[in-house]
Amino acid sequence: MMHALGDAAWIVDAGTLKLAGINRAALALLGFGEADAHAIGACALIGTPEDAAFWGEVKAGHAGEIDSPAVALAADGRLLHVHRRISALAARAGARPSHYLVVVHDRSDALREQLERETLLAELQATLESTADGILVTDLAGRIRAFNQRFAAIWALPRDLLKGSHDDAVFDWMRRSVADPREYQRKLAALQESVLMRAQQTLQLLSGATLELVTQPQICRGRPIGRVWAFRDRSEIVAADRRIEALITTDALTGLPNRRHLGDAIELAQAHAQRDGTGFALLLLDLDRFKQINDSLGSDIGDRVLIEVGERVKTCLRQGDLLSRVGGDQFALLVHGVDQRGAESAAARVLDVTGRGYALEGHQFTLTCSIGIALFPGDGGEGSELIRHAETAMQRAKQGGRAAFRFHQPSHDADLRARMRLEHAMRQALTAQRFRVAYQPQFDIASDAIVGAEALLRWRDPELGEVAPAQFIAVAEESGFIIALGDWVLAQAVRQAAAWRSQGMPLKIAVNVSALQFQQADFVDRVAQALRGADLPGALLELELTESILVRDASEALQRLYALSQLGVKLAIDDFGTGYSSLAYLKRFPIEKLKIDKSFIRNLPADDSDAAIVRAVIQLARALNLRVNAEGVETEAQRRMLAEVGCDELQGFLFAPALDAFSFEQRLRNQAAPGRHLRVVAR
Ligand code: C2E
Ligand code: MG
Ligand code: MG
Repeated sequence: MMHALGDAAWIVDAGTLKLAGINRAALALLGFGEADAHAIGACALIGTPEDAAFWGEVKAGHAGEIDSPAVALAADGRLLHVHRRISALAARAGARPSHYLVVVHDRSDALREQLERETLLAELQATLESTADGILVTDLAGRIRAFNQRFAAIWALPRDLLKGSHDDAVFDWMRRSVADPREYQRKLAALQESVLMRAQQTLQLLSGATLELVTQPQICRGRPIGRVWAFRDRSEIVAADRRIEALITTDALTGLPNRRHLGDAIELAQAHAQRDGTGFALLLLDLDRFKQINDSLGSDIGDRVLIEVGERVKTCLRQGDLLSRVGGDQFALLVHGVDQRGAESAAARVLDVTGRGYALEGHQFTLTCSIGIALFPGDGGEGSELIRHAETAMQRAKQGGRAAFRFHQPSHDADLRARMRLEHAMRQALTAQRFRVAYQPQFDIASDAIVGAEALLRWRDPELGEVAPAQFIAVAEESGFIIALGDWVLAQAVRQAAAWRSQGMPLKIAVNVSALQFQQADFVDRVAQALRGADLPGALLELELTESILVRDASEALQRLYALSQLGVKLAIDDFGTGYSSLAYLKRFPIEKLKIDKSFIRNLPADDSDAAIVRAVIQLARALNLRVNAEGVETEAQRRMLAEVGCDELQGFLFAPALDAFSFEQRLRNQAAPGRHLRVVAR
């Protein structure tokens, strides 16, 4: 029976503890001959302390059994990992055992296999760790089965998430680390659509890193058992790409974007303009006679001129506009959100800044440029077409005598020529003293007394006749001439107020200020200077600003307004209601007065909505403690209604148009005399 057993086995006599028999499998396992086995003795064949103790108990008469792993020493010195079971054999149930049967099962192979499996696993883990990618393995239910350290590092997983199975926490962490969680969810859903799908996506993390994700099904013995996700950090590659892209699209000398970049920018601008229903202008600028500078002063100076031109032109740009160098001495400007007028004023500014003198390494010289302008939409669909059109327009500017700009469409030039003539006439008018200032009285509604005067510009031209401010102020604003003109009006008005004051008629003079004027860095200084020059207290000057001035650059405007109010100067908002209004600035800015635009007064008292607006403005002013002036009051009915709703002062043809200084003075004197009330006549 023993020989028939597959396992090694022997029998021990319970009385003598001697070997009663041993099978061939046991001799083969231990490497003994049968005689050796008898010589070693039954109790020492497996000589562990546990076995020795067992046989000791058997000898003492305690029957027992043993069934556990053990280590046996083979004849050749090898340690054998075995499992041995020792059971008692008795003739009858309950009788004392006469023998013990030892069955030994060799586990060495099984152990070796297990060890090999463990080594293999460790090697696989090491392989997983030695890839540059972050790897995550999930099962079919989406549970995490494995991941490597790189995965933890790429996602910056906190330590406590690395231990134990915190699947939800890990996934949650990943979701919160991406820049756009919604898009991430969408991509993830797409990736998981099919268990068999292999897919690739790019993920953007909040940290700024760019990850490339490749996922594929994990197939084992022909069945999908899960999914492997490999995350690769592409940030460095992306950064390198950007650097290369920047090198390709930048002009080395000036650091400006080059022609290639311009092409892309034009396409983008077209897309934006089409979407927003706006337009933009492409200005192509070519330096005049640049070759002469290169030839006479050397190309080093030539290079520096190009750099300086770039710097100067940059000062004409608004944020978002693009200046690029497209060739030797050619630059291109992309001006967003402008039409013909806007393009024109940009071109005028560029001509102005580039036309100022240059001083480089002891050389002093001047330089001009010619500009061609193409407009979008209107002057061509494709980017290259737009550039071509700007080029031909630039050529025409050159042929026309240089130092000028031309539009692609000559009709624009014609329109432009008319305005340029007007501007030219205006500049001459200022030097020839053809401008005058007229004064329109402002009346206190309660006392009928003249409480102020608005200075309004007047221009009679020998050829053009009387030109209305509505016509020429806009042109002066576009060309920047309004700065000189505004300075002149301010000086005149302040001088006039000082004269009246010295004659015993202190009267507040209101002067209109254009946005461009107000934006000059030294605007406050100029006002202070004018006041000082005429020795006029600031409180007798009121500046009329439009809402757009205040909204444009609120913090800068705020500073300027406070500086002005430090001078004692009063501030009024002109044409109130026609611009963008922000209640916030009314509250924050040191304003004294709102002037309701005459368009709201014109249809009073019949027009209900105008009446409602006027009432609302007056209530608003009350709440903010501001005075209200109504402009363009022409009828008695308007006056009566404005008085009823609580307007503070009135201005309009009903009382007086803008008068020359002499007529105004007479009016003032009459008022001072007893029995005044000239306005009574009008009533
Ligand atoms: P504004 O500042 O709102 O000036 C009031 C305009 O309304 C003046 O037109 C004035 O003559 C006109 N007006 C006064 N009473 C009545 C009336 O009862 N009915 C009607 N229909 N109109 C009346 P003006 O002088 O033609 O000036 C037009 C605009 O030109 C001014 O509007 C102001 O924005 C601008 N302007 C005039 N002078 C200057 C100046 O020196 N500097 C600046 N920056 N702008 C000025
Ligand atoms: Mg005004
Ligand atoms: Mg006005």
